[in-house]
Amino acid sequence: MPETTCPPESDETKPAQIAEAGSSLKASPSAGTVGGTAAVEIDPQSVPRPEATQPYRILWKYAIVLALVHLFAVAAVLPYFFTWSGLVLAIAGHFLFGMFGITIGYHRLLTHRGFTCPKWLEHSLAVLGICNLQDSPARWVAIHRMHHQHSDHQPDPHTPLVGFLWGHVGWVICRHRDLDRTSHYERYVRDLLRDPFYLKLERRDGWFFVFLTHALLITMAGGLFGYLISGGLTGEAVRYAGSWAVWAVAVRTVFVLHGTWSVNSLAHLFGYRNYETRDESTNNWLVAIFTHGEGWHNNHHAEPRAASHGHRPWEFDMSWWVIRGMERVGLAKDVVRPKAMQKTA
Ligand SMILES: [Zn+2]
Ligand SMILES: [Zn+2]
Repeated sequence: MPETTCPPESDETKPAQIAEAGSSLKASPSAGTVGGTAAVEIDPQSVPRPEATQPYRILWKYAIVLALVHLFAVAAVLPYFFTWSGLVLAIAGHFLFGMFGITIGYHRLLTHRGFTCPKWLEHSLAVLGICNLQDSPARWVAIHRMHHQHSDHQPDPHTPLVGFLWGHVGWVICRHRDLDRTSHYERYVRDLLRDPFYLKLERRDGWFFVFLTHALLITMAGGLFGYLISGGLTGEAVRYAGSWAVWAVAVRTVFVLHGTWSVNSLAHLFGYRNYETRDESTNNWLVAIFTHGEGWHNNHHAEPRAASHGHRPWEFDMSWWVIRGMERVGLAKDVVRPKAMQKTA
């Protein structure tokens, strides 16, 4: 079993604040070069699951909650639950919670520090991220930094080279002993946990209650909406409450979940590569569409801190345009641009 306190082999991610804290994380000289040094050869058959996940033990609380949210989402096939307002909210929620919360908040801001913003905005983005049932900010960030450090090599927590299902969802519901250790958090998210806001979300699964609260509020708002537009019919209030719970919470959450999981699975298996990184990351346009730009994953592995994942003119990255907009109005600062963009600037 690997000791979590030993120094990492290499790290291209190097979040600014960990670097400031004097971490021993080092940049890999071979990764991230455009058409430069050859990538380390990876034999797809030779990447075993992380030792800390062996033997496979199901993390029941994650498995049950994820099964339940999928079950609720499947209820969307029943005409009873369909309302246009529920559908519109599901689409809007994909942008609000998925793009602002996960892509911009959890990933580009908290994990990679691709830009800075006022604390109130950072915390708001983190709360939006929590509403996607993708774990607490600290745990998400720790797992993702670990992924960048060991991409497609043991102990990458979710390489699909172990198997597609493992890379997509298997790892989420499997107990990972290192993720229960304080030393793991000290190593990967020391910067984040200095902020009492994130520390509090870790205690007694506080983040999960934030998710439940948001789901309850949306459901209640649906009930109120149905009651008002039907002129006070209780049956319609109940139907709208159910519709918003199914569409605006469950369907949207499941859609965002599979988007993020597809970045880990599909965008490490299928697509083209602009850079010879030391992993198998790819640029996958389909994943990019459904994840607001996260599918340009090979670009991202080449320059993890860059706030833009689209490096070529046709690689549209909606999240990047939002970050640029935030920069224009003074809400985002110290925005890290990829080298390709610096050359054309
Ligand atoms: Zn990756
Ligand atoms: Zn990343």
